[in-house]
Amino acid sequence: MSRPVIVVGAGPVGLLLAGELRLGGADVLVLERAPRPSGESRGLGFTARAAEVFAQRGLLRRFGDVETSPQGHFGGIPMDYSVLEGSHFGVRGIPQDRTERLLERWAVELGARVLRGHEVVGLHQDADGVVAAVAGPDGRVEFEGSHLVAADGGRSTVRGLAGFDFPGTPASREMYLADVVGRGIKPRFIGERVPGGMVMSAPLGGGVDRIIVCERGTPHRERRTAPGWSEVADAWQRLTGESLHDAEVRWVSAFTDATRQVTEYRRGRVLIAGDAAHTHLPAGGQGLSLGVQDAANLGWKLAAVVRGWAPPDLLDTYHAERHPVGARVLRNTRAQGHLYLSGEEVEPLRSVVAELIEIPEVGRHLSGMVSGLDVRYDVGPGDHPLLGRRLPGADLPTARGLATGVPAGAVAGWADRVDHRPGGPPLLVRPDGYVAWAGDGAADGLDTALRRWFGAPAPTPAAAPTETERQPA
Ligand SMILES: Cc1cc2nc3c(=O)[nH]c(=O)nc-3n(C[C@H](O)[C@H](O)[C@H](O)COP(=O)(O)OP(=O)(O)OC[C@H]3O[C@@H](n4cnc5c(N)ncnc54)[C@H](O)[C@@H]3O)c2cc1C
Repeated sequence: MSRPVIVVGAGPVGLLLAGELRLGGADVLVLERAPRPSGESRGLGFTARAAEVFAQRGLLRRFGDVETSPQGHFGGIPMDYSVLEGSHFGVRGIPQDRTERLLERWAVELGARVLRGHEVVGLHQDADGVVAAVAGPDGRVEFEGSHLVAADGGRSTVRGLAGFDFPGTPASREMYLADVVGRGIKPRFIGERVPGGMVMSAPLGGGVDRIIVCERGTPHRERRTAPGWSEVADAWQRLTGESLHDAEVRWVSAFTDATRQVTEYRRGRVLIAGDAAHTHLPAGGQGLSLGVQDAANLGWKLAAVVRGWAPPDLLDTYHAERHPVGARVLRNTRAQGHLYLSGEEVEPLRSVVAELIEIPEVGRHLSGMVSGLDVRYDVGPGDHPLLGRRLPGADLPTARGLATGVPAGAVAGWADRVDHRPGGPPLLVRPDGYVAWAGDGAADGLDTALRRWFGAPAPTPAAAPTETERQPA
């Protein structure tokens, strides 16, 4: 058996990545510190682009009926996200632990191994592979892998072990959150600016409400443990006048506006994804979704390297493509933080931004930015409007490339990596749903694009695999 790719962390990013790697035919071992799933509600949904990523792999329907809302906000200023075609303010009301359970089931169905109670405490890499030292239930053990991906969250241990730089701005504010049972708290879906700060509340179903409290002037502390409920209830009462002190609470936590990003997404055989690579204020619910898109971008490329067909620089395009996208999310969440959480002095700016948002082109721009739908990768020369953009409605359950509207012979050499559909516009779509080539009738440039993204053709045209053969080894 070949050495696996080691994924550290069974959060949403590590689990999606594990499934993506399996679809690409790589062996996968997920090492997770926690002995059992956390059960924490945390992120309550995902953005429009993350929903498309899940739909592409047939995962969205596993959530059942999902609710999307066109009405959202930018920095607490109401905004209609449907002003951009295909966009919305996200799939809402899905606690993160449900997303994680669903992704874990999928990854395991595809053949990923998930070891819980295994904390990565040491790491060594050389030209041949990686070794992860792990504190497990039976003491210290070592696991060898071909590569290792740090998906171990905002306080990533692997980030430090592998020597990634993580510059940025330190926390200036602390916010509390709690899931409160049976109090029917007045909904404030996009948050309400009140004298002294901001409060938010939203029903989670089953009589539980999520509250968030941001009180201005509260000194930020570097916490290792959650705040006590009385601390949160005190702040809520100071800002709303309402006492929740005697309420039952499911979960209490705190977060900050610390904003940081690693300077490189790859160091040799170690790669980094999700919150481990970038942390920011959870404004607009973008964190989980940003990481999900990291995983979708990285999975097929790393699997291609492991399977031996990757062109030489394919893995480097992970940093080239995802670092700027992450940096942009960091900028928009910092901007939203100012608009949302500053005091009276920000009111003139808020009123100007509110006017701007009413201009449809501005609304479309912000909607594309926060939803993730406007991502455009540099995939090569050409000015076709679809080039480098996601293909809406792409259905890619087996995570292979897809060529449409071109002669079968043009892609025959890549039949083991690229599916062919004779109909439709002339396009080459990558396994992550982004358009790598778009023709205007002829197949000019298709061969170059195939070699750039899918490597050299098979020496003799490979027979297209059957559905059964397409399942990862
Ligand atoms: C209040 C709040 C609200 C949010 N709302 C949203 C939202 O609405 N939408 C959204 O998209 N995002 C939201 N987010 C952000 C979202 O929760 C995170 O972005 C997301 O959890 C990141 O996923 P991840 O897999 O990168 O990391 P994590 O979910 O943090 O997972 C990392 C995993 O690695 C494990 N681990 C850590 N160290 C080790 C180690 N040394 N060895 C082995 N395992 C290890 C951890 O136990 C954990 O299971 C919110 C966050 C907060 C705090």
